[in-house]
Amino acid sequence: MKYVVLGSSAAGINGARELRRIAPDCEIVLISKDKNIYSRCILHQYLGGQRDLEKLSFVEHDFERLYDVDWKKGRSCVGLKPKEQVVLLEDGEMVGYDKLLIATGSHTFIPPVKNLKEAKNVVGFRNVEDIDLLKEVAKTSRNILVMGAGLVGLDCASGFLELGVKVTLVEMAGWLLSKQLDERAAKTYQEAFSKHGVKQHYGVGVEEVSLDKNQNITEAILTDGTKLPCDFVVVTAGVRSNVDFLEGTGIETSCFGLVYDETGKTSDENILQEMYQEPAPFGR
Ligand SMILES: Cc1cc2nc3c(=O)[nH]c(=O)nc-3n(C[C@H](O)[C@H](O)[C@H](O)COP(=O)(O)OP(=O)(O)OC[C@H]3O[C@@H](n4cnc5c(N)ncnc54)[C@H](O)[C@@H]3O)c2cc1C
Repeated sequence: MKYVVLGSSAAGINGARELRRIAPDCEIVLISKDKNIYSRCILHQYLGGQRDLEKLSFVEHDFERLYDVDWKKGRSCVGLKPKEQVVLLEDGEMVGYDKLLIATGSHTFIPPVKNLKEAKNVVGFRNVEDIDLLKEVAKTSRNILVMGAGLVGLDCASGFLELGVKVTLVEMAGWLLSKQLDERAAKTYQEAFSKHGVKQHYGVGVEEVSLDKNQNITEAILTDGTKLPCDFVVVTAGVRSNVDFLEGTGIETSCFGLVYDETGKTSDENILQEMYQEPAPFGR
């Protein structure tokens, strides 16, 4: 049996590990856009310099050998032929499978703010490449705006603080971490960020960004009319599922991503979103 796993982050890696456990003799091919295996949860420490790439990893150093996985790293899947049971990679290679596990996760959502999509000096806070760019940005930018004060936005602000860079947070909700905290609890964190020089704007969104002739943002205009000087924007305002490569395949998706049942099966019986694990019997 040949399994192909798409994605080498938390879901894909643990899917591959689980496959090796339940099917010791199967062939496993892991395909990922990512060239490295790393935890996104600690990317702020990569920005802040407390961890290097090696220390972001959550796998054994000999993961591929240990789990006998053929990892095609830095390779994107751009299509799928469910009837032929093959995935198409961007360089034209086709990889056949008996069963396919899709664990392609998500990407940064860029909100429909005027001029934002066209701007050059804007990035998300999700991939190691984003953080590599931000490390460079931190050396020269003086007015970095972080759009969104949820968990990821705060990670971003904290990472920058480690570098001595004080960002500006703009959040549409009335306070930071509005999904996790009430206003009173949030105040404690807001004050702590203020003490460290982080400027914060709550209850307002970014309505528009102004661009110079090189398509670089120079100013952000907020929904209350406030104009903020700005030479870089980090967008931390949510994500969208990576399911573009499924377009036209007939595999069911919704606005949230791939549709699957409680056992992880998608609308195609050979394609799984997540491995289904039998509940462990008592005593194990
Ligand atoms: C800054 C930050 C901090 C976070 N902190 C926490 C935390 O403290 N606690 C917590 O529980 N969660 C946290 N999260 C969320 C957590 O990181 C995600 O839930 C987790 O990464 C999801 O894993 P995943 O494997 O489903 O997808 P992803 O991590 O999105 O990985 C998707 C994988 O698929 C690959 N891929 C995508 N498209 C293709 C394609 N077309 N072809 C080939 N490969 C493809 C990518 O290269 C990647 O390897 C944080 C996230 C971020 C960004």
